Parts: sequence; C-alpha cells; structure tokens
Amino acid sequence: MLRRFRNLARVGPVQVATGYDQRGREKHTAACTAPRCGFSAEYDTRSAAELAATTHRCSAH
Ligand SMILES: [Zn+2]
Repeated sequence: MLRRFRNLARVGPVQVATGYDQRGREKHTAACTAPRCGFSAEYDTRSAAELAATTHRCSAH
C-alpha cells in the first residue's frame, strides 16, 4: 500500500485509518480485516468512517 495512514483504529473486525489520496486530500478509510468479507470504503470524514465501522455487519461470520 503506497499511501501512508495514521490514526489507525480497530472497531471489531474493521480497521479505520486516516490518510491522503494522490491529490493530497484527506481520506478516511474503513476496511474489514475478515478475509472473506471484502468490505472497504472511503469517507470524507473520520466520523463517517468510524460510524461505518461500528455499523458494519460482517458477512464473513
Ligand atoms: Zn466484514
């Protein structure tokens, strides 16, 4: 992964990270670490990413 992430946090199986895209814009990523889930999404705000992580219902379980 080329992008640098900071403020890594984990909510259940979902990892939340803040980083910058190629244009230098701040991005907030929520990505599920369950191998068969594949959930990953980017959000404009940290709170949105954390909310997505909190409400994620993992299909891998
Ligand atoms: Zn999941």
